[in-house]
Amino acid sequence: MLNPDPESALIDRFGRRITYVRLSVTDRCDLRCVYCMAEDMRFLPRAQVLTLEEIARLGRCFVALGVTKLRVTGGEPLVRRNVLWLFEQLGALSGLHELTLTTNGTQLPRLAAGLKAAGVTRLNISLDSLRPERFHAITRLGELRQTLDGIAAAQAAGFARIKLNSVVLKHRNHDEVGDLVAFAMAKGLDISFIEEMPLGVIGDHDRGEAFYSSAQIRADLAARFELLPTTETTGGPARYWRVAGSATRVGFISPHSHNFCGDCNRVRVTAEGRLLLCLGQEYSVDLRRALRANPTDDERVHHSIRQAMSIKPRGHDFDLHGQPIVFRHMNATGG
Ligand code: SAM
Ligand code: SF4
Repeated sequence: MLNPDPESALIDRFGRRITYVRLSVTDRCDLRCVYCMAEDMRFLPRAQVLTLEEIARLGRCFVALGVTKLRVTGGEPLVRRNVLWLFEQLGALSGLHELTLTTNGTQLPRLAAGLKAAGVTRLNISLDSLRPERFHAITRLGELRQTLDGIAAAQAAGFARIKLNSVVLKHRNHDEVGDLVAFAMAKGLDISFIEEMPLGVIGDHDRGEAFYSSAQIRADLAARFELLPTTETTGGPARYWRVAGSATRVGFISPHSHNFCGDCNRVRVTAEGRLLLCLGQEYSVDLRRALRANPTDDERVHHSIRQAMSIKPRGHDFDLHGQPIVFRHMNATGG
């Protein structure tokens, strides 16, 4: 792979350099988490979803444009057939520094070793509760055991510094944040707590009423642990604290109480190939059309991506109490 030409680096009109792309490889999932999906989701017809070859090609184009970090997400990326092939293609791109995956963990017992061999550098695994019946209620379909086995399989495959992601909802799991941190410490993991974002109509709960802020979580944790502020970053929106006397970092992703747009370095591609310039806005560019109209000419795809930089908005505008302004669900967006 060529070194990116400085002329073609992706810089938006606010001077932010885009070096991080999240690729959603499917909108499908084996779970139906209450904050992410409606119970009766309809998924995209297959012809609308990018092929694995198209996604691999997009990865190559982004890296040629100076992107150094790719995160594969979904839906649940590991339910897509032959997805290991895609990881192998992406893992072989020189110029890419980090290849990461966000997963609910259920398929890791089967796939963790292959992902490691393909060059995946880090894993985020979603885990909202350590109580089986609660885990089942939040995910609607999930068995806690499967995700715990997935975490163990990932560690056995040699993944270090795995990060748990927990979406915290009042009266669903807010009283478990201390237990989740204790679990992370016992297993040598990091953990991030995420404020729920109003993406899509989910029909399960009132998002305003379920809101539990990062500040409240931090106060709850302070009663049980000593949290030391750090300036560490993993290149994403989380702000980190370290638990005194342990290697565990506790992150907070707080789109409501801490707007992280000013230093945004990332864009997303949906499973349909829509390049989303902001998680919280609808601005997008159809890369599937660019890919399919120019099957052999990557330059044309680079051109579409570069042009898209001019419509990246300054920031999101989440409102928990009104109608969602973003009607896509998180699984379609690529979390
Ligand atoms: N299925 C994988 C998983 O659950 O990790 C990857 C996709 S999922 C959409 C990515 C992340 O988004 C997960 O950590 C999930 O908890 C989070 N998420 C989903 N819906 C959300 C919402 N409405 N607000 C905040 N985070 C959300
Ligand atoms: Fe599936 Fe992840 Fe959404 Fe849960 S958060 S329904 S695991 S895509």
